[in-house]
Amino acid sequence: MAYSPRAFLSRVGPAIERAEGEKHGMDGVVEGDQGLAALRKTARHDLARLNYPAANWVPERAGPDGTRVLDVLVVGAGMCGQTVGYGLLREGIGNIRVIERETHGREGPWNTTARMPILRSPKHLTGPDLGVPSLTFRAWYEAQHGADGWEKLYKIARLDWLNYLLWVREAVGLRVENGVGLLKVEPAGDLLRADLSNGETVHARKVVLANGRDGSGGFRWASFPSFDPESPIRRGRVFHTLEDIDFAKLAGKRIGVLGVLATAIDNACTALEAGAAEAVCFARRPHLPQVNKSKGVSFPGFQRGQGMLDDDWRWKIYTYMLAAGSPPPHESVLRGQKLPGFSFRFAEPWCDVIVDEDGVTVKTTKGTERFDVVLFGTGFDIDMGRVKEIAAFTANVKLWADVRSANEVKANAEAARYPYLGRGFELEEKVPGRTPGLDNIHLFNWGSILSQGALAGDIPGLHVGATRLVQALSQALFTADIERHVQNMHAVEDPELAPTNYFVPRDKRAGTL
Ligand SMILES: Cc1cc2nc3c(=O)[nH]c(=O)nc-3n(C[C@H](O)[C@H](O)[C@H](O)COP(=O)(O)OP(=O)(O)OC[C@H]3O[C@@H](n4cnc5c(N)ncnc54)[C@H](O)[C@@H]3O)c2cc1C
Repeated sequence: MAYSPRAFLSRVGPAIERAEGEKHGMDGVVEGDQGLAALRKTARHDLARLNYPAANWVPERAGPDGTRVLDVLVVGAGMCGQTVGYGLLREGIGNIRVIERETHGREGPWNTTARMPILRSPKHLTGPDLGVPSLTFRAWYEAQHGADGWEKLYKIARLDWLNYLLWVREAVGLRVENGVGLLKVEPAGDLLRADLSNGETVHARKVVLANGRDGSGGFRWASFPSFDPESPIRRGRVFHTLEDIDFAKLAGKRIGVLGVLATAIDNACTALEAGAAEAVCFARRPHLPQVNKSKGVSFPGFQRGQGMLDDDWRWKIYTYMLAAGSPPPHESVLRGQKLPGFSFRFAEPWCDVIVDEDGVTVKTTKGTERFDVVLFGTGFDIDMGRVKEIAAFTANVKLWADVRSANEVKANAEAARYPYLGRGFELEEKVPGRTPGLDNIHLFNWGSILSQGALAGDIPGLHVGATRLVQALSQALFTADIERHVQNMHAVEDPELAPTNYFVPRDKRAGTL
C-alpha cells in the first residue's frame, strides 16, 4: 500500500479538485478559482525546488505476514497528523500511511463541533506550511482575495481554516485514507501490529497518535451524584459541547450551560441564534479569567526550549498555565453580550444534575434551576486509561504522577495525569521492560504539553513540534538500522572518476577503497 507522492502529485488535477469541492460544498477549493490553481502550481514548483519529496532512504523490511512493514503509521489527519505526514515526505520517509476515521472534510473540529465564526488565533500564524511561503494561510487567502483582501481580513473564518488545511494536503500530495480508523495497536516483536476499522491488520515500526485534542482522554464530564453520562435518559436533554448537536431542536428552549470558556459561550450563542429562548452560562469562579498566558510564551525560544528543560521547570511552568486557565476570546463574549437571552452566573457552582423525561433540574449553591436542555462546556480530559487504541500498553504508560512527589500530585491532580514523554514525543514505560514497543508510539496531541509545551495542538507551536517529531522518527529509524546502513556504506559503489583517465575498477584498487 506504500505510494509514490510524485506519482500522486502528477495524477491529481483540477477534475479531482472540482469533484472534492462540490462533494463537500467547499467554496474555497473549486476549479474555477484561478487564484488557487495558480498558487498550487507555485507551491509545487517551490516544493520541487526543495527536492520534494525527498528520496526514500529507510531500508525495506518484511513483516511476519511477508508484506512490507510500514515505517510510520500516522493516526489522524487533522492539522497535526497531516503536517507530520508532509514532514515525513520531506524527510525521505515515504513508506507511511496516514489514516483518518472521519470522511474528507470532517477532520478535526472545524466543520463539526467548533461553533465559533472565527479562529481565536491571529491571521498571520504559520505552521501547516512547514516554512514554505506559498503554502501559508496568507498565500492561500491572497490567491483568492488579493493583497487588499488580506489587509482587510480581521481573523480567519473557521471553515476557511479547514479548506486551507485540505488545500495544503492536496498541494503537497499527501495521501490520506479517510474512513479508516485505528482500532487497536499491540506489540509484535520489535514491531507494532495495528488493527484498522477496514478489517486490515498492518505492521509498523512507528505509530504516531495525532488523534486530536481529545486523543489523550476524551470529553470531560463534571461528576454529579445523580448524573451518569452513559445513561440513555440524557439523550436529547444533556449534551457535551463537543458532541454533535442539532441546534434547530433547541428553538424556544431554556438552556443551562456549565462553563464560561470559549466552547461553552459559543455553544450558548449557537443555541440562541438557532432560536433558543435563554442560555445561562454558570461558573464556579467569580469572574472570567482575564489573561491568556499562552500568548506570552508563543515565541521560538519557549517553543524550542521548554521541552528541553528539566522536570522541575517543566512542571512549574505547566502547573501554573493549567491553573491560570485561558479567557474566552473577546469576540465570543461580544457575540453573547449582543444576544437577548444570554447571561453569565458567576460564583454559582453546580451541585447536582437530575435528568427526567421533561427536562433537567440543576441544583446550584444558590438554588434550584429547571432547564429544557443542559450543555456541559467542560472541555477535554487527560486520562491515558481512556485511550482505547493503546489499551494493551496503558497500565504501563509513565505519567507525570510517577516523577513528582505525592504532595505535588495531590495539589495538581490534572497535571499529574499527563503522560511523561521522551524528547521525540514517545511514550515511556513506567516499569522498564514490561511493555516492549511502547516507545515506538509517539503521542502528538494535547497530552504532550507537560513534556513538550504546546507543540501539538495549537497552531503557534505546530511547526516546531512537527519538525521535532519528524527528526526524532528519522533518527530512531536510522539508528535501529545502523548495521544495514553501515553495510550499505561499505558496499556503495559510485564511479565518480569513470569519465577520467584515472579510474581504477574495484578489483584493481589498492586497499578497500
Ligand atoms: C472549538 C475549537 C477551536 C479551536 N480554535 C483554535 C484557534 O483559534 N487557534 C489555535 O491555535 N488552536 C485552536 N484550537 C486547538 C487546535 O488547533 C485544534 O484542536 C486542532 O484541531 C488540533 O489539531 P489536531 O490535529 O491535534 O486534532 P484534530 O484536528 O482534532 O484531528 C485529529 C483527527 O484524528 C482523528 N482520529 C481520532 N482517533 C482516530 C483513530 N482511532 N483512527 C483514525 N483517526 C482518528 C479524528 O477524527 C480527527 O480528525 C481549537 C480547538 C477547538 C476544539
